[in-house]
Amino acid sequence: MPDSFSIPRLLMNRLRTVMAADVETETRLQRVVKLIAGTMVADVCSIYRRTQDNRLELIATEGLRPDAVHRTFLAFNEGLVGQIAAHAQPLSIQDAPRHPDFSYRPETGEDPYHAFLGVPILRGGQVVGVLTVQNQAERIYEDDEIESLQTIAMVLAEIVSAPTPLEASEEPQRPLNLKGRILCDGLGMGRVRLHDPVIPAAKFFATDRELEEHRLESAFEELHLSIDRLLSVEIGGLWGEPRDVLEAYKLLASDPTWAERLREGVRSGLSAEASIDRMRREHRARFENVRDPYLRERLHDLEDLDNRLLRILAGADERSADSEDSVEEGEVLVARRLGPAELLEYGQMNLAAILLEEVATSSHAAIVARGLGIPTLGGIDGLLTQIASGDTVIVDGEEGSLHIRPDAALVHAFGERKKLLSERQAAFDALRGEPSQTLDQVEISLMLNAGLGLDLDHLKSTGAEGIGLFRTEFQFLLSDTLPTVTDQIALYRAVLDSADGRPVYFRTLDLGGDKMLPNLNDAREENPAMGWRSIRFALDRPGLFRRQLRALIRAADGRALSVMFPMLTTTTEFRDARALLEEELEWSTQKGFPPPSDLRVGAMLETPAFAYALQDLAGEVDFVSIGTNDMLQFFHAADRMTPSVSERYKMVSRPVMRFLRDVNETCEKLDIPVSICGEGAGHPLQALCLIAIGYRSLSMPAGGVGPVKRMIRSLDLAGFAADFDDLLNDRDREFGDGVLRLCAAHKVKLADDEIHSKPK
Ligand code: PEP
Ligand code: MG
Repeated sequence: MPDSFSIPRLLMNRLRTVMAADVETETRLQRVVKLIAGTMVADVCSIYRRTQDNRLELIATEGLRPDAVHRTFLAFNEGLVGQIAAHAQPLSIQDAPRHPDFSYRPETGEDPYHAFLGVPILRGGQVVGVLTVQNQAERIYEDDEIESLQTIAMVLAEIVSAPTPLEASEEPQRPLNLKGRILCDGLGMGRVRLHDPVIPAAKFFATDRELEEHRLESAFEELHLSIDRLLSVEIGGLWGEPRDVLEAYKLLASDPTWAERLREGVRSGLSAEASIDRMRREHRARFENVRDPYLRERLHDLEDLDNRLLRILAGADERSADSEDSVEEGEVLVARRLGPAELLEYGQMNLAAILLEEVATSSHAAIVARGLGIPTLGGIDGLLTQIASGDTVIVDGEEGSLHIRPDAALVHAFGERKKLLSERQAAFDALRGEPSQTLDQVEISLMLNAGLGLDLDHLKSTGAEGIGLFRTEFQFLLSDTLPTVTDQIALYRAVLDSADGRPVYFRTLDLGGDKMLPNLNDAREENPAMGWRSIRFALDRPGLFRRQLRALIRAADGRALSVMFPMLTTTTEFRDARALLEEELEWSTQKGFPPPSDLRVGAMLETPAFAYALQDLAGEVDFVSIGTNDMLQFFHAADRMTPSVSERYKMVSRPVMRFLRDVNETCEKLDIPVSICGEGAGHPLQALCLIAIGYRSLSMPAGGVGPVKRMIRSLDLAGFAADFDDLLNDRDREFGDGVLRLCAAHKVKLADDEIHSKPK
């Protein structure tokens, strides 16, 4: 990568004049290609635009036949131009007609041209067009020529992607319905706020270079100050994890090469925004090409910094224009990707929903979004090309869909659903202090699944009895470096403090599978869910594991402590893990730290194999917690993350219920307390089945507590359980429908979607 931007000053100045001229887009584009061809001494310069039906249309040319404009169309990956569009990469070729991808279009008259250089025109990370130059002579374009053309392409992005007046009048504001993955459920509606600022074409050139340099320097200063400010406060109760991310930002922001390259951009005639945008494109392009997860994280951090700087510039302008400097209530945040620290900053504001183009369910941002309880969808293909700042959008985190620019009927329907939801929420809130008891006085213990400091607020808001599952790996996933023992003690202590005597079940590190830690496990596995993960990983990293166990003992500081090990398959794994815990206990006691008043060591049952290992562990396991999320995928051999097999991944099925009934009986026989902590326990229908086969303790996400308690309080358990048992044993009756019929007959209160849809 060259060290400095080499944008011909003259070209920049002329380009600015052309762009500023008050003429039709067509004329402007024509002047631009003429200018580029002249300055770069090219025989041809052409611009292709991506059309709505995904083809590439020649929209301006200097050198090719003028009547080919608006007549030549290429498929998105057709010819050299198509290759540039498909790969979003520049392409430089000495002798184009001999290239295998060359596609000859007689109407353009391009046969005599040999040398070819083309670059993608990108906007918001998407290819909106292609800019090319051609020469008759066979020649190789220099790196600085490629760079110049890329800079020009950046300047052109806005006008190329803007709809022509014809398109604009056709249907510019079409409502759109897109699908995404649910990262956090709930409903939200608001106006779009783009996380990655889009630079308007008018802002590409510096009108006063000195002023521009000054703006950039002030933005640097503000950037450093804002990172220091963030470092000096606790954000969102996460006890320091974002601190590592911010420390990394601080280091990156102090990198003199980064700052110098931005200054050079401004010195060459770009505005501060355009110079940053140019850097951002470079970081993004490198991100796309790098596979190493660690490097990808770094490049993502760099892109974040670019975005921060852009937001600071925008913020400074807004402030000087005396406008609001905070996220308005009801805004929907839209981003390609988002780091956890950034999301936490937004989290302090009042977002209605979050939409992320690229994020997977297990990403850090998804974890934080769930902690914040903001309806969030991720993995939405083409989101940023279809949505604009200020658009109204409805986010349906129940169905996994979003409606961009919804019509009045949709907005009305949303309002009704939202009203219903808040009425229902109010009814659940009213149940908070009521006992979790069936009509025939059977007590069911309802606990919370948690993993972030943020989740602890839910203890109060739901009235749950304690934390049935604390996922300790989240602290690791959110941190750029491994959390120290001190960090871990601080988190565990805070959890115990806020539980205030209520039970907390700490689940030891469950990394691997969908919870990858880039710097610890970079071996690609065919089947990570069944690979080197969870307790296997922890036992193979005894140093890491023991530090965690030590932190747990120290955090308890003489209070009761419950610890459980995840994804066991054998008795040996449990015994080895328990032995390490006991060694740590001895060590800590010798060092003078008070031992827990009561230490309970449990096993998570997440594999069918472990169900049959249990009997050999009688007297050694203090409790069992069934992780149905994992257990179901192994039981059905259906990956929990693969949508095409999600129909098979179901809890309400005869084999699963028989299996879980047997496990419950085994535990009773062995006198081992047992509970369920998979997400399914938070759905009334699934919780009902679990209760019917004998489970009395359920741990679930906060949102499940109200609906499940309502169901429990409507249930006459003895009568229902007897009928349920009959159904379980009656192979002639379809099971899923049968359960729903029983619910109706016994007037059990389920969630609406459970009554109307097929059970999972
Ligand atoms: C489970 O598998 O049910 C479980 C609780 O663990 P996790 O979802 O964290 O894998
Ligand atoms: Mg699990």
